[in-house]
Amino acid sequence: MNERQDIVVIGGGLTGLSAAYYAWQKAQAEGIAVSITIIEKEKSLGGKINTLRRDNCVIEKGPDSFLARKLPMVELAQALGLESELVATNPHAKKTYILCRGKLHPMPPGLVLGIPTQIKPFMKTGLISIWGKARALLDLVKKPRESAEDESLGSFLDRRLGHEVTSNVAEPLLAGIYAGDLNKLSLQATFPQFEEVERKHGSLIRGMMANRKQGQSLPGLPDVAKGTMFLTFKNGLGSLVDRLREQLSPHVNIRNEAEVVQLHVMEDGAYEVQLSDDTRIVAQQVILTTPAYDAAPLLRPYLDVSMLDNIHYVSVANVVSAFDRAKLKNKWDGTGFVIGRGEKRAITACTWTSIKWTHTSPEDTMLIRCYVGRAGDEERVDWPDEALKRTVKNELKQLLNIEIEPRFMEITRLHRSMPQYPVGHVQSLAQFRARLEEELPGVHIAGFAYDGIGMPDCIRSGRTAGEAAVAQVKPHTAKVESAVM
Ligand SMILES: Cc1cc2nc3c(=O)[nH]c(=O)nc-3n(C[C@H](O)[C@H](O)[C@H](O)COP(=O)(O)OP(=O)(O)OC[C@H]3O[C@@H](n4cnc5c(N)ncnc54)[C@H](O)[C@@H]3O)c2cc1C
Repeated sequence: MNERQDIVVIGGGLTGLSAAYYAWQKAQAEGIAVSITIIEKEKSLGGKINTLRRDNCVIEKGPDSFLARKLPMVELAQALGLESELVATNPHAKKTYILCRGKLHPMPPGLVLGIPTQIKPFMKTGLISIWGKARALLDLVKKPRESAEDESLGSFLDRRLGHEVTSNVAEPLLAGIYAGDLNKLSLQATFPQFEEVERKHGSLIRGMMANRKQGQSLPGLPDVAKGTMFLTFKNGLGSLVDRLREQLSPHVNIRNEAEVVQLHVMEDGAYEVQLSDDTRIVAQQVILTTPAYDAAPLLRPYLDVSMLDNIHYVSVANVVSAFDRAKLKNKWDGTGFVIGRGEKRAITACTWTSIKWTHTSPEDTMLIRCYVGRAGDEERVDWPDEALKRTVKNELKQLLNIEIEPRFMEITRLHRSMPQYPVGHVQSLAQFRARLEEELPGVHIAGFAYDGIGMPDCIRSGRTAGEAAVAQVKPHTAKVESAVM
C-alpha cells in the first residue's frame, strides 16, 4: 500500500524547509495533527545555500547574505534561536566601487539601488558625464507614466533617469542581483517599489529620498538589523539549514536523494507523488518549491505550463580566491566592485569578503569572491577550471594589481540558477496560480521562481504555501503528527 501523508513538500531548499517549518508551526499552534514529508533529490538540504569551511574560512558557494530590512529571515532566525549568530557588514567598509571605462569609481554616497538620493555627491561622480547628470535630474520634473502595465526595468530607468545612469550605475548594481538583462526583467516583479514611488511622488529621485529617510526608522526592525544593509550568520548560511533540519527532523520526514518524477491525480482528489525509485507517496497537499523548469514537467499533464516555461534561468560561476593578506598592498577601503556589461569583462562582481564580512577568514587571509556569467554571456561558466582561474587571476591583476598566486581557489558553477522574471510576470503568475487552484486544488507553488529571489522572499513564499496547505488539510484524513520512518 502507498504511504500516506497530509503534506508533501517537493524540494529541500530554503523555500521547502520554510514551508515545512511554518506548516508544522501552524499545525502545532492550532492543535492539528499533520504528517509532512520533504523530498529532496540531492544528498544534502539547502538547495542554493552551500557553506564550505576550508582553512578556517567560511566560504559561501551560493548566496552569502540577505537584506536586513526584509524581516522574514530575521524572524526565522529568532524563531530558531539563531538571532545571536547574526552578523552585520563591517561598519568601517562602506564604499562599493563600479568599474566604468576601465577605472574603479567609488559609488557616490546616497545611491540606493542605483538611484541617486543625494544630489551633491551624485553631481561629483566621475561615473556619469555632465549631460548624463542633467538628464537624470529631469526625473524631478518629468511626468509619471499613466499606464499601469508592466514594463522592463531597463525601459523604466531609461525613461526616468536616462540611459547613462541606467548603463553606468543601475545596470552593474542591479544586474548583479539577477545576473540579468535589464531590458528583459520585469519592473513589477523585481523592483515594484520603483513604480510605486513614481506614482506616489511623481519622481523616482524624490520618492527614493523620502523612502530612504523613512527606511532609517522602519518600525519593528530588531536592533541587529539597524544600521546595516545586509546580514548573515557567523558560521555561514549553512547553519540556518542545519538548524532547520535539526528542528524539523523529529516531526517531519526528510528524504534526501529522492527525486520526484511524476505527479498523479487520484480519484479522491489526493495526489500520488512518484519518486525515481518508484516509491509512491499519497498526499492531500503538495507544495512544489523546485525551480520552474523542474516544476513544469510535473504539472504539464494537467495544465498549460507556458508560464513556467517562460521563466528563463541564467548560469553563473562563483570563484573564491584566498590570498596571503600580508603580501597584498591594496587599501581595501570598501566591500568590492561591480562591473557593467559594457566593460566586456569576465568578472561581473567582486566582493572583498574578508573586509565586508570580517568573521569569514583568519587575519592573515584575504578572501576575494568573483562572479562570472550574466544573461547573454554565460559560456565562460563552463570553461575548464584552469581557464576560469586564469581569467579571474588576470582580471584581478589588471583591476587590483594582485600579482601573487592565491593559496587556493574554489570554483562553484551554478547552472540555471538565476530566474529572470519576464515582463508581465506578476500578472501571469496570478493567473497561473488561479488555474492551478482550479485544476489541481491542494497543489501549491512557492520559491524563488515566483515571489522574489532574495532569501527572505523565499521564506515568505514558503511560509505562505505551508500555512495554506495546513489550512486545507481535511481533518478526517489527518494522521498522527509524527510519522518519522
Ligand atoms: C549564485 C547565487 C547567489 C545568490 N545570492 C543571494 C544573496 O546573497 N542573498 C539572497 O537573499 N539571495 C541570493 N540568491 C538567491 C537565493 O539563493 C535563492 O533565491 C534561494 O536560495 C532559492 O531557494 P529555493 O528553495 O526557492 O530554491 P532552491 O535552493 O533551488 O531549492 C530547490 C530544491 O529543489 C530540489 N529539486 C528540484 N527538483 C526536484 C525534484 N524533482 N524532486 C526533488 N527535489 C527537487 C533541488 O535539488 C533544490 O534543492 C542567490 C542565488 C544564486 C544562484
